[in-house]
Amino acid sequence: MRDSIYTIPVNEVFEPKCGCPICTMRDTLEERSVEYIMGAAMMEPDVRVETNRQGFCRLHYGMMLKRKNRLSLALMLESHLIEIKEKGMKPGSASKGGLFGKKGEPAEKESCFICGKIDWAQKTMFDTIMRQYAASEEFRQLFAGQELLCLPHFKELTAYAGEHMDKKYRSAFIKECTRLCRQYLETLSGDVSHYCKMFDYRNAGADADWGNSKDSIERAIYFLTSRKTED
Ligand SMILES: [Zn+2]
Ligand SMILES: [Zn+2]
Repeated sequence: MRDSIYTIPVNEVFEPKCGCPICTMRDTLEERSVEYIMGAAMMEPDVRVETNRQGFCRLHYGMMLKRKNRLSLALMLESHLIEIKEKGMKPGSASKGGLFGKKGEPAEKESCFICGKIDWAQKTMFDTIMRQYAASEEFRQLFAGQELLCLPHFKELTAYAGEHMDKKYRSAFIKECTRLCRQYLETLSGDVSHYCKMFDYRNAGADADWGNSKDSIERAIYFLTSRKTED
């Protein structure tokens, strides 16, 4: 497996200052993974062993389906389904959450080869971000200049910092993450309110001022889920 396809220079992710940088990183990784799996990886037995074992999640199957390379996908599904038949379908187990598990979470979360790779690459990226934040004023400025952190990535990044970051910089870093997430939330919340108000009859008419509110629903869904609505 060429792990190099999962390595992205940190500056490449932060320089554009457009959207959530962690989303940018994830999108790039997803794009590369799908490309690789539908192409070169078809011929790599070790990758096939893993994809046969893990399969993919709904989202990533969807991305592969969009590639219009249906034969690649069918070949992967063929061997994945055979593996499921051969390994025996095990009944679900209550100890792993169950439908009515204690935490109310779905049983045995679907495993996904791409999600696994992204989780791994994201941890590596988080380590790099934290190291650079502690080491370089230039990077701290770059980080501060981001447009936003989406809510899921704000939570993941601050949780990771809480456990892995150099204590000396931890609280400043978490504060900065909070500011980036909060400031976007304020703007967004104003835009969604503006959007709602535009449905008042007093705001009807051709010269109605929508401000920045027209795509506020899409932006709110993106902020809350880290996913664009067309995904
Ligand atoms: Zn994000
Ligand atoms: Zn997945």
